[in-house]
Amino acid sequence: MAPSPLGLYLHIPFCRQRCDFCSFYLEIYREGRAEAFVRSLTHEIWLSAQQQVAAGRPVQSVYFGGGTPTALAVAQLIAILSEIRKHFSLTSDCEITVEAHPSTISEQDLLQLHQAGVTRLSFGAESMEDGDLARIGRPGAVSETVTAVAQARTAGFTNINLDLMYGLPGQGLDSWQRTVTHCLSLRPTHLSCYALTVEQNTKLASNIQRERSPAPDEGLQIDMDKAAQQMLVEAGYERYEISNYAKPGYACRHNLLYWTNGEYLGFGPSAQSYLDGSRFGNVADLTAYDLSLTEGLLPIEERIALSKKEQLRDAVIFGLRLVQGVPSHNLHQHALNYGYSALTAQLLAQELIEENGERSKLSAKGRLQADTIAAQLY
Ligand code: SF4
Repeated sequence: MAPSPLGLYLHIPFCRQRCDFCSFYLEIYREGRAEAFVRSLTHEIWLSAQQQVAAGRPVQSVYFGGGTPTALAVAQLIAILSEIRKHFSLTSDCEITVEAHPSTISEQDLLQLHQAGVTRLSFGAESMEDGDLARIGRPGAVSETVTAVAQARTAGFTNINLDLMYGLPGQGLDSWQRTVTHCLSLRPTHLSCYALTVEQNTKLASNIQRERSPAPDEGLQIDMDKAAQQMLVEAGYERYEISNYAKPGYACRHNLLYWTNGEYLGFGPSAQSYLDGSRFGNVADLTAYDLSLTEGLLPIEERIALSKKEQLRDAVIFGLRLVQGVPSHNLHQHALNYGYSALTAQLLAQELIEENGERSKLSAKGRLQADTIAAQLY
């Protein structure tokens, strides 16, 4: 049997400044630190190949995420991609995504990324209202997103995602709808719409605690979610996952791996991997990451071999996020394995999960409680 394809994830842990809501592992960009990181990352890719971590596996997707990948110079991103190509066999239709902050990329950069074989851009727009961006401490302006999308098209990109967030401080339903309308006018192939969540130890959490900023209003977020779905479906987008919409044929192949229990290998500090039934993650500290690679060791901090039961659990929990859901027999087997049959029956009776023929999925009502349901079924 041919080896199944996998995805590669590259975590670029730098941003020019930290947004108020962000709890990702990252550092504020410094040139020398970034140069050392690129050396470590290319060494990690080489070392992984030497140790045959994913030997013989074709690669169907490469994803540069972060942080802000475009905080690095484009020449550095291209050097990392070249290292990947040297050691891995990319399929002819490999999806290669770079996440980009609209203020950190020029027309020339976009041209070079396209020429280097990047096939997909994901711009962190977050909102199309400058006031919203200011209230979440997000650097940049809406006009930069508009310019970046136009320049990406000129450079030859046809597959463009915009990331949006809703439920931002001071954002009403009407301003959210204006953001969605403005995004639609830019004709992206893909839109991700995330409800703002307040993570511990962020500036936003502290602002809310000191009553300098309002907490997200769950009821309003539900209305915003419904409004976005209506507008995007009417505009020809398919909702294929709780937060993700795509024009037909443009669902993100890399992210689909996560939700279909596919396999992936992560590089960079804090990057996670799932391979051969094991989950493992790199150390979430750039200094420790560099040090490990200087000593010739892969910077893996933790490795957990999943039992068959645990693999099925993860497949069910991630798969329920997809609009297509999971095979019903998998949901019921998982419920039997963990003693969740009564809970599953209750979720079905409450119409939070629905079964259509042989598949089970979250209902529209269930999608709004997806994280709670996932926690219950874990
Ligand atoms: S640009 Fe993205 S990764 Fe960087 S601080 Fe803002 S939200 Fe976090």
